[in-house]
Amino acid sequence: MPNSSSNESDQHEVIIIGAGVTGIYQLYRLLELGVDVTVLEAGAGPGGTWYWNRYPGARFDSESYSYGYSFSKELLEEWNWSEHFAGQPETLRYLNHVVDKFDLSKHMQFNCKVESSVFDEDSNTWGIHLADGRTLTTPVLLTAVGMLSAPTMPIIPGVESYQGEAYHTYYWPQEPVDFTGKKVAVLGTGATAVQIIGEIADKVGEMTVFQRRPNWCAPLHNSKISDEEMAGIKASYDEIFARCKETPGGFIHGPDRRKFEEVSEEDRLAFWEELYASPGFGVWIGNFRDVLVEEGPNEAFSEFIADKIRQRVDDPATAEKLIPKDHGFGTRRVPLETRYYEAYNRDNVHLVDINETPIECITPAGIKTSAEEHEFDVIVYATGFDAITGAFDRIEIKGVGGQKLSDKWMDGPITYLGLQVVGFPNLITLAGPQGGSVSTNFPRGIEEAVDWATDLLLHMRENDYSRIEASQVAEDEWTAHVKETYKYSLLGNSQSWFTGYNSNVAGHDKLRYMIYNGGAPRFRQRLAQVAADGYAGFDFS
Ligand code: NAP
Repeated sequence: MPNSSSNESDQHEVIIIGAGVTGIYQLYRLLELGVDVTVLEAGAGPGGTWYWNRYPGARFDSESYSYGYSFSKELLEEWNWSEHFAGQPETLRYLNHVVDKFDLSKHMQFNCKVESSVFDEDSNTWGIHLADGRTLTTPVLLTAVGMLSAPTMPIIPGVESYQGEAYHTYYWPQEPVDFTGKKVAVLGTGATAVQIIGEIADKVGEMTVFQRRPNWCAPLHNSKISDEEMAGIKASYDEIFARCKETPGGFIHGPDRRKFEEVSEEDRLAFWEELYASPGFGVWIGNFRDVLVEEGPNEAFSEFIADKIRQRVDDPATAEKLIPKDHGFGTRRVPLETRYYEAYNRDNVHLVDINETPIECITPAGIKTSAEEHEFDVIVYATGFDAITGAFDRIEIKGVGGQKLSDKWMDGPITYLGLQVVGFPNLITLAGPQGGSVSTNFPRGIEEAVDWATDLLLHMRENDYSRIEASQVAEDEWTAHVKETYKYSLLGNSQSWFTGYNSNVAGHDKLRYMIYNGGAPRFRQRLAQVAADGYAGFDFS
């Protein structure tokens, strides 16, 4: 990193925004090198996603042991996961443990909301303006702002008028919410809603789910990890992480190399039954490789899953409403569920398809559709996020000539490697749009991005560079390449946060090329090649 002589507390060699999974590891790496660094975090503690999302049922869909950091053998050895897919409290405990173990919190500033970041061309530094009125400066700004950290409320008249308890799942209170005997509305049927609905169906008085578009969900099959099993996992961490390195998504699951047509119908069905009965994302990313690439195989598998929904939901009309008709299986993020479909078999759970009876407004007492006014004690907004670019847009980031990043990205992100943006020198967008991390098992992706960025900063320090910026050619080429990767699968055909759609954000009603779809191994290779070529595509001065 560029040399900096100042020790004043408002000036640092590097500033990181965000103390989530990415910020924690980046901080660790820089402290190892003796860098003067501070982390600015809006929350009252570390953890990012796992600090905020405290809603009942929140847990990850990655196998716990593939989600933890891989950088410290000691950490791997001492941490015991209690479940194959750990819940939010355990994951937050884990991240706090990492922070304590490596004594990181003294380099973190909590309750510290960044309002704007402005690049000064004369000094090649960023000025970071905070909500508390302070301004910090740094030559190098690293964003670790998360990809699902800008929650969005639905644009429905009357939201503010509601008099009962109302929660967006991201801003769930720290104290548990008591649902006993209460009438609860859940708005949304994405991965978050699917978790909460399955979890609270038997704890509420009544629950009404307001669904706009159903998703293809599949069972998580979570279970406890015994002491013996955990010992086995610890003994095989090298193989687990090696396996994650081989797969496109950085998970232990990778595509079956056979093509759908090459397998007899009998064997195909047996394989699909096995996938459906297996824990985790195998059903999505461990399938025949053409299921997510070609219409025919995708339709066949979608029909297989539709039948599963029909088998699990007692009322045929409800089952049909829960089966997606606008997109094929796996072309949006597949929510993994526990007792989700069975929730609709309960007398106290009701489904409202808002295509049939649209929501007209939120009233002081509840939700009014075209058919009736429903009264509720609690409304849960599981309405998602202004994903990937939203957290950047919520900070006013101004680069060379006062250009705003949000203006540059108005029609979708434009980046080099998802890590740098022309016109915004010395800004490294860790886990930024179009990077490898956003489409992978997150910690696996970000460890690579952080290691690469750390080497890049060392390269700057060794060469006494004070400014780095991607070249226009490199940015154009990468952004075009990211667009190309949308042709590798059916993903680009569906509308979700993966493809930049959000009906609650102005202008987010068309395809935005948010994600690099070339797979983690190719992204890793590309990063290594760029570094080996002396950071090809970057201009230093
Ligand atoms: P989401 O997938 O974007 O779902 C938002 C839901 O709200 C959708 O059903 C959407 O309907 C609905 N909605 C939004 N605005 C609406 C409106 N104005 N009127 C009616 N319905 C509206 O968000 P999410 O469920 O929070 O999940 C986001 C991502 O977070 C996931 O895909 C996943 O990557 C991550 N996540 C991970 C885990 C895990 O690791 N296990 C758990 C939860 C979430 P439409 O579909 O019609 O837009």
